[in-house]
Amino acid sequence: MPDLTPTIGAFASVEKAALQSILDALKGAGYTLIGPTLGEGAIIYDEIQGIDDLPRGWRDHQEPAAYRLQRREDDAYFGFVVGPHSWKKYLFPPRQSLMKVQRKDGTFQVTDEPDPPPRYAFIGVRGCELQAIHIQDKVFLGGPYQDAHYKARRQQSFVLAVNCTEPGGTCFCASMGSGPRAGAGFDLALTELDDIFIVEVGSEVGAMMMRESGWRPAGAFELQQAREALAAAEKNMGRHLDTSDLPNLLYQNLENARWDDVARRCLSCANCTMVCPTCFCNDVLEVSDLSGKNVERVRVWDSCFSIEFSHVHGGNIRPHTRARYRQWLTHKFASWIDQFGVIGCVGCGRCITWCPAGIDVTAEVAAIRGEV
Ligand code: SF4
Ligand code: SF4
Repeated sequence: MPDLTPTIGAFASVEKAALQSILDALKGAGYTLIGPTLGEGAIIYDEIQGIDDLPRGWRDHQEPAAYRLQRREDDAYFGFVVGPHSWKKYLFPPRQSLMKVQRKDGTFQVTDEPDPPPRYAFIGVRGCELQAIHIQDKVFLGGPYQDAHYKARRQQSFVLAVNCTEPGGTCFCASMGSGPRAGAGFDLALTELDDIFIVEVGSEVGAMMMRESGWRPAGAFELQQAREALAAAEKNMGRHLDTSDLPNLLYQNLENARWDDVARRCLSCANCTMVCPTCFCNDVLEVSDLSGKNVERVRVWDSCFSIEFSHVHGGNIRPHTRARYRQWLTHKFASWIDQFGVIGCVGCGRCITWCPAGIDVTAEVAAIRGEV
């Protein structure tokens, strides 16, 4: 019997319907499938069972402070970009139980072993999002103290990436070097053409999941089509950000008048940080029930835009929106590099689309550069 397992690095061609066999193989291997699906008037990430749950035939029109679903003229499975959710929702959940304490029989019983997390297979991870996962890997796993909760989820996750062939109006991944093609770190990466998927095999597990897909080696013409689609996507980004000498630019402009200007528009609502796939600020709370017998310590998402976030002994170190916006932007594009050796933005455009005031980070950086 011929070996049906492609080699790592191979480019295979599969019929579109065969994506279901890859998803079935993942489910058979014990993975919980998380993928894009229609919900809440947007394309969100949720548990899916198969290709029928994907938002086939839909696109998302995006611009500053605007997001609309629109029907496509074709039946593309991945003919949209990114919505309000990101994969951090699963790797770094908005609410994580850290410890439970129960008062019983005059003593305290402490439980700090969380339930084992599911093995997630992330379906449809875009290049910018894969880079965002790598950035959060540095945050949660890079230093001397590793986050056990993130590690448990991340280590056993499977990534099925999708290369973007139609960037959205707020995308600028090409400027940030994170897309439209997915970089290293995926198990499988799809490029959607009219009738087929080109699948790049990135790992042994990925190769195993291809066994029942009826794949064949991709032909030269198909590969050329995929290359051309990605080259066109790179040219058609909705936005551009000049990254040259960014840390110096920002550090030398801490008193630039643009911070006052943006502070007049910013609502300090924290939307941008909630949707951002790299933001990781969090708070730790202790919550007791009404009987006083049960206490839970939980970690919840927080934001540098929250007034309480910068409250330290003696007062608040960033009491005004001007200081909070400056902190956020300067952290993303300058001090993040000092901290983690990498820029903190991947150019996904979420903070532009989901900002109710339509504040555009690419325009803010350009203004500080003196280009506006
Ligand atoms: S700062 Fe904005 S564009 Fe950059 S990664 Fe975060 S949400 Fe995406
Ligand atoms: S920049 Fe926009 S999304 Fe972010 S806090 Fe200000 S108003 Fe909210």
